[in-house]
Amino acid sequence: MHSRRQVLRYAGSLAVLATGCANPNGSERTDLESLVDDPSAFPGTLRAEGRLIVPTSAEYTAARTVINPRIDVKPTYIAYCKDEREVAATMKWARANGRRVTVRSGGHSYEGASMNNDIVIDISNLKSFALGTDTMVIGAGWKQGELARRLFDARPNTGAVMGSCKTVGLSGFSLGGGFGFLSRKHGLGVDNIVSLTLVNAAGEIVVANDRENKELFWALRGGGAGNFGVVTSMEYRVHAVPPVVTTFYHKFTLDEASRIVPLWFQWIKDMAPEIVSIMSISGGGGSGSVAISGQFLGTADALMATARPDWGVPMEGWLRERSYLDAIDYFNGGASSSKESRWRARSDYYLKPLNNEGVDTIAKVLRAVGNPWAFAFLFDSYGPVIRAVPSDAMAFAHRKDILCCMQLYMSWGGTAMGPNAQDGNSAIRLRAIGDALKASGNVSGRAYPNYADSTRDDWPSAYYADNLARLSRAKQQFDPTHFFTFAQSLPPA
Ligand SMILES: Cc1cc2nc3c(=O)[nH]c(=O)nc-3n(C[C@H](O)[C@H](O)[C@H](O)COP(=O)(O)OP(=O)(O)OC[C@H]3O[C@@H](n4cnc5c(N)ncnc54)[C@H](O)[C@@H]3O)c2cc1C
Repeated sequence: MHSRRQVLRYAGSLAVLATGCANPNGSERTDLESLVDDPSAFPGTLRAEGRLIVPTSAEYTAARTVINPRIDVKPTYIAYCKDEREVAATMKWARANGRRVTVRSGGHSYEGASMNNDIVIDISNLKSFALGTDTMVIGAGWKQGELARRLFDARPNTGAVMGSCKTVGLSGFSLGGGFGFLSRKHGLGVDNIVSLTLVNAAGEIVVANDRENKELFWALRGGGAGNFGVVTSMEYRVHAVPPVVTTFYHKFTLDEASRIVPLWFQWIKDMAPEIVSIMSISGGGGSGSVAISGQFLGTADALMATARPDWGVPMEGWLRERSYLDAIDYFNGGASSSKESRWRARSDYYLKPLNNEGVDTIAKVLRAVGNPWAFAFLFDSYGPVIRAVPSDAMAFAHRKDILCCMQLYMSWGGTAMGPNAQDGNSAIRLRAIGDALKASGNVSGRAYPNYADSTRDDWPSAYYADNLARLSRAKQQFDPTHFFTFAQSLPPA
């Protein structure tokens, strides 16, 4: 019970569904016929080839469904573009006609940032692939799991920095930061971007890298999710991976958290860069547990030879060697993927270990709450490779002194799309618990942009920290008419 996906499934099993409150995304229209615009006005090939989905299309419900069922948005058009020229034509048409556009890749934004009531440009068909010596040049529409397999097929024992969920889009993941099981050795996703091609706010195709459009490149790496244009392809680093990796899992009762948590924080300070570990303190319905899981890039014997804490006797515990691709399936919670239950999350960064007061706060929450609420406090181990990049080297700011990224997942419902009686209540609870944890100390007060959180009023400074002012200037420079505007789009200078 420890991958993100598994945590969410567990939460869903505790949930009670209800209906009837306001739609959080502001779409009050329910009559699909009334949403139908004039598709004949839309750029030609999309319609001719059946890739323009409108509310009366048979595929409409599937096409507007994203990972979090809390997100219930009814776009007028969902345009499945097949290449960058079609993206550019759609953008120019949208601009000329005063329409609104968001871009969707994997559709895993926690707050549905890739959706809007008007035009959604879906880039999931953009899946070109060319492998070079140290990098691959790929279409921006790849989902992580299929890309990992494609890369491994093209060159065995080769991987790239990706997260734990196979259906997350590599573009959304890497533009907003991107932490995964290679990150303590090879950095965040954003550190692995070498060059980007995008359709900008004017509908022009431009390249951004450390030679061309440097300031745009700086801004895209950490602030690029939806803010400056539609990224259509990227050059991304690839890395040798061993044929066998070792996954591990140790689970303890919640009562043991005050013993296990300091051990974990001590360990991650100097842990071998081949290890990534996640600590999860989770539960619901009055009970909880603490689990240490992760992956080592090598055999079990080699892992045993590294410095590791003496965890004591866990309730459940094992080490298992797997192939690199099997480990990806394992952390995904299985080879295939399924829909999740509804959730929200709050994140922060720990600069010093979670202290006893923090552990007590978490234990109190887990012991006090009952159905339908379920919680997981997940701690991702950062390391020297991530910290070595200066905080202003690119827009992604969370580097110096950071031990780990924490996210508090809160889940309370099932898989039905649409409003739920607990949605509003969940925001109040998330704020209160997040504030209590912050008050217990040792956190930065910042937030990971990829764990979008609509309950935070201070989101611009929390996501972008000291890089906010420069990013706002970049927004003004590269999107002067604020064409890309959504709930948490960058505030222009
Ligand atoms: C189950 C689950 C597991 C996760 N695991 C991890 C993890 O292990 N590590 C981690 O770091 N994060 C993880 N995340 C967070 C994830 O990285 C973010 O939610 C990410 O934004 C999702 O990207 P997407 O393309 O799938 O989503 P989308 O909703 O399609 O896009 C997210 C944002 O990026 C923008 N965007 C997408 N593609 C482009 C593009 N081509 N050009 C410009 N803007 C674009 C969208 O407009 C939107 O603002 C996880 C999320 C979920 C739901």
